[in-house]
Amino acid sequence: MNEEVKEMVARGICPQCGSRLYHKEGCMECDGCGWSSCNEA
Ligand SMILES: [Zn+2]
Repeated sequence: MNEEVKEMVARGICPQCGSRLYHKEGCMECDGCGWSSCNEA
């Protein structure tokens, strides 16, 4: 995960589509596009 992505995740914003992220099983997930911090390398 690069710094830009980390910063957006820290703000609770999806780095892919800009929707809000929510907590799921210790990860951050996006309701809009399905992006998950756990799936980011
Ligand atoms: Zn998204």
